[in-house]
Amino acid sequence: MANYEFNTQDRKSIKDLLSSPKEVVITTHHKPDGDALGSSLGLLHILRAMGHHVTVVVPSEFPAFLNWMKGSQDVIDFIRNPKSAREHLAKAEVIFCLDFNDPSRVEKMHADLMNVKVPMILIDHHLDPKKGFCDYQFSYSSIGSTGELLVHLMVDFGWDEHLNRDSAECLYAGIMTDTGSFRFNSVTDQTHLVIARLMKEGVRNDRIHELIYDTNSFMRTKFLGYTLSEKMQQIAEYNVIIFTASQSDMDRFKHESGDLEGIVNFGLSIKKMKVAALFSERDGLVKISFRSKGLFSVKEIAEKYFEGGGHKNAAGGRSKLNLEDTVKKFVDLLPIYKEELQAETE
Ligand code: 5GP
Ligand code: MN
Repeated sequence: MANYEFNTQDRKSIKDLLSSPKEVVITTHHKPDGDALGSSLGLLHILRAMGHHVTVVVPSEFPAFLNWMKGSQDVIDFIRNPKSAREHLAKAEVIFCLDFNDPSRVEKMHADLMNVKVPMILIDHHLDPKKGFCDYQFSYSSIGSTGELLVHLMVDFGWDEHLNRDSAECLYAGIMTDTGSFRFNSVTDQTHLVIARLMKEGVRNDRIHELIYDTNSFMRTKFLGYTLSEKMQQIAEYNVIIFTASQSDMDRFKHESGDLEGIVNFGLSIKKMKVAALFSERDGLVKISFRSKGLFSVKEIAEKYFEGGGHKNAAGGRSKLNLEDTVKKFVDLLPIYKEELQAETE
């Protein structure tokens, strides 16, 4: 596999730090997705196999389609169980921060995480990591998933001998979900070498795909149909598709965490469309998911106008305006990007 020239001094410090059994907490971003939870649990199993005492603490609930992952039942959700989350943070001797680039991404857990004064190690693939928030930062935005980066690191550290089927399944699922099932241009020969390494542990790719993608509830599938038929607008002039999901829509379809996941991608499946945005009401705010194709960067829009960020082709943000006004704000921005959105080829 490729040599990413990881910082050798950091590698040595971390290997020293974890050379004897430690209390380890692994955390990730608010609303963990497949890569966030998959890389966290993947690392948990590796560190456990090395003799450490490891707990995954998440800032908020993860979607039910990830609850087959080994170890997911023992994950501590800060919102549901703040006392236990705080106890684990307090006794941690080392903290790993996976799949986020800014401490604010842990939302309500922010103050508690920042209070901890033990070595913190960042492993992430988002652009522009906030400087100094962890003592050791392994931040590689050219890598398509934190799961892939983690395997490269494990090989570099010589810890890949502790991979087993449990860790490999979690990591495989993370890489698969963050690469759109190995479809995005972030996928490289290295991604496939990492996958080959994981499959050696007995991962069954067909089973994992089914567990993630073929477990929709009846109501979720109806919600998808309703959103596609009633709540999708095309702004043909700018090659943009917009979806909305109001609180009352979500109540009607008995919305559960993760139900809206993936809907935004349908926008990009329409011929010529370059940007898709999903606006959903959540906790008194409007959450926005942006996706784009090619060179157009939705990260910039998310950062500049919607208090968010992410990657060039997948970003997110929020707005305190109501649903309708948030959509209007976005639509009113499109003329600024007219040339890029209307460009025929790239
Ligand atoms: P999603 O649309 O799936 O929620 O998020 C897409 C991408 O944007 C993810 O990589 C996620 O990390 C990033 N993202 C989503 N919401 C936010 C946000 O509020 N702030 C930042 N910085 N990134 C976000
Ligand atoms: Mn990720």
